[in-house]
Amino acid sequence: MSGTIETRLFINNEFVPARSGSTFALYNPATEDHVADVSQAEAADIEDAFIAATAAQKEWEGIPPMRKSPLYGKLAGLIMLHGDELARLEAISMGKPYSSFMFDKMACAGLFGHYASAAYHIQGQSSLNTPGMINMTIKQPYGVVAAIIPWNVSLIMFAMKVAPAIAAGNAIIVKTSEKAPLACLKLAALIKQAGFPPGLINIVSGYGNITGKVLAEHMKIRKIAFTGSVPTGKKIMQMAAASNLKNVTLELGGKSPAIIFADADLDMAAKATEFSIHQNSGQHCQANSRVFVEEGILDQYLEKVVAIMTSRKLGNPLEKDTWQGPQGDETQQKRVLSMIENGKTNGELVLGGKAADVGGKGYFVEPTIFKNVNEDAEIYREEIFGPVLLVNTFKTEEDVIRRANDTEYGLFASVYTRNFERAMRFAKLLESGAVGVNCSAPTQGLDMPVGGWKQSGVGREMHMYAVENFLETKTVYFKFDHSFDMH
Ligand code: NAD
Repeated sequence: MSGTIETRLFINNEFVPARSGSTFALYNPATEDHVADVSQAEAADIEDAFIAATAAQKEWEGIPPMRKSPLYGKLAGLIMLHGDELARLEAISMGKPYSSFMFDKMACAGLFGHYASAAYHIQGQSSLNTPGMINMTIKQPYGVVAAIIPWNVSLIMFAMKVAPAIAAGNAIIVKTSEKAPLACLKLAALIKQAGFPPGLINIVSGYGNITGKVLAEHMKIRKIAFTGSVPTGKKIMQMAAASNLKNVTLELGGKSPAIIFADADLDMAAKATEFSIHQNSGQHCQANSRVFVEEGILDQYLEKVVAIMTSRKLGNPLEKDTWQGPQGDETQQKRVLSMIENGKTNGELVLGGKAADVGGKGYFVEPTIFKNVNEDAEIYREEIFGPVLLVNTFKTEEDVIRRANDTEYGLFASVYTRNFERAMRFAKLLESGAVGVNCSAPTQGLDMPVGGWKQSGVGREMHMYAVENFLETKTVYFKFDHSFDMH
């Protein structure tokens, strides 16, 4: 413990320090103050978690869903009840404003509620097409699975992985991000309070190349679900292949386009695209960082977006009226500022363009807009993960489709128009895991899949798509009539 903040590992429903005593320091990105020294899991701790999870999984698999469902409901209720404390922990570790955390709280609780009865939907198929036999498929859990999550929406990522994994009958070891370990450790206490059995859900903190690597290379863990950046996703896949060829799902970065036609509701388009790039300080994988507006409406669009962006309050995330907090940490701020410098030689600065001064402390960045950006520039091609909007113009449908799709990413793409046929053409032609017609990310239905095309990911999450990720399929051949002989 560090004061009233839990900083230890959560293994077998107990909080324990790392066996080696290893810790890492966490700093408040708004004030630069030291927040806590957090226990860092190494191989011996992961082994403890694996042993506990193995024992728990054997029992959990045999418990009927109707006895498990109430636990999910109880946890969802506890998350809602402890929302203020969870918000405070996110604010002091990665800088999320209290106001925007309320969405994370609802989504995290909602996801646990959503998966409460998911186990009943896990069903195989049967076939009578082989003479003399009834054949069937059955779905079974992997056993002990692992998840590695990022820091930008840690509680949502936690729920998106843990709830379907245990609904499928697995036990899980989750590694949180070194930038945001605290709220998930509070969640650990709530998991225990809700009555989930010891060892079912284990939560470890630590850096990726220390703690995460042990999970990705583990020889007995057969499934790993990862959310984070493209470079780390590639490393996870390499480690999974080089160890035991474990099954991998990857939810990675984005560079989402939003295309705005002159016939669109421009107020609505400006509002939605501004929110997409600005909320959570632009630290959102699906944020529409590349906007294309039809020639002729550029000035009108920019005027509207600038008015909204400059009306938002930037400041300490613990103050209830703060809309934009700092970037996640100093590294994130430096990366965003270096991208902005790249933008200054590859586009025209419209707004912002530097670190924001909030009492001389913290890792803040001014909301920034560039127009007429060189589409070969680094700022245009790489994910920024900051409040930086790039706005270019287009003349024809063919031209803008080609340019919107000219990226290695493919998470979310938007088109704003009142022309129904054009909207349908774009829904088909845009190369991404989701297309929003007259809406931008974040837009999500709990029963709709999430995932990326191209280098934005491998596999889909949410609803039963996620449960499927944590199941093996077995074919069972059942011979009942020996008069048919296949040999
Ligand atoms: P990151 O790749 O730096 O880290 C993600 C996680 O991987 C962290 O827990 C980290 O400790 C761990 N990690 C890092 N190196 C590792 C290694 N060598 N071995 C094992 N684990 C390792 O990403 P981030 O900065 O935490 O998150 C931001 C990224 O996540 C952005 O690219 C964003 O687009 C992406 N993201 C994607 C989605 C999605 O649903 N597609 C959602 C949220 C965030």
